[in-house]
Amino acid sequence: MSDATRLDEVNARIHAAARAAERSADDIALIAVSKTFEAPAIRPVLDAGHRTFGENRVQEAAGKWPALREAYNGLELHLIGPLQSNKARQAVQLFDVIHTVDRVKIADAIAHEMVEQGRKLSLFIQVNTGEEPQKAGIPPAETAAFVSYCRDERALPVAGLMCIPPVEEEPGVHFALLAELAAENGLRGLSMGMSADFEVAIRFGATHVRVGSAIFGTRD
Ligand SMILES: *Cc1c(COP(=O)(O)O)cnc(C)c1O
Repeated sequence: MSDATRLDEVNARIHAAARAAERSADDIALIAVSKTFEAPAIRPVLDAGHRTFGENRVQEAAGKWPALREAYNGLELHLIGPLQSNKARQAVQLFDVIHTVDRVKIADAIAHEMVEQGRKLSLFIQVNTGEEPQKAGIPPAETAAFVSYCRDERALPVAGLMCIPPVEEEPGVHFALLAELAAENGLRGLSMGMSADFEVAIRFGATHVRVGSAIFGTRD
């Protein structure tokens, strides 16, 4: 099956899940996660009209997206993987949205670079809903304080919250927690749901689903 066909299928599933949840599919952005795939695999999805893509590594994105940006108008590129502060400059140059803000040092570096470069990105704060030691994200209990730091003290454009549930657990519990934390903090954006669980995420209010393998096929 071609990438463009799989894209159509994912879009159809998003529409069906939105309908079942009595939501509008217009309120759900599909981020096509193209990590590990090169331009020849990405172009058919661009040619099918899709413009919103996600990458998890700054360096990898820098190698393929500048040329694609020249070839296609209206691209929106999302960073969905961890960010080191020494890559903040490059990340702010390359990306339109960063989903993985999870500490003061990164928030400060992004704030500095947005002023420096005169660019305004949209940001999501990553929450470690499963409180897994090896996983990025702030602990749920620190959400209010960190949102307030980013939004009120640094005047950062915080669009919402992002999570990656623990692989072994029922994702709905984590999506519900993220939705609750967002509501408590007056945030609308919910970046949650991947190939295996984006329909569940839509049921719990996802505004951004991050779907890779269901569009591009399995990664090596
Ligand atoms: C790779 C990745 C995805 C997409 O995963 P699939 O299972 O291929 O859909 C989503 N979110 C993050 C943070 C990722 O790193």
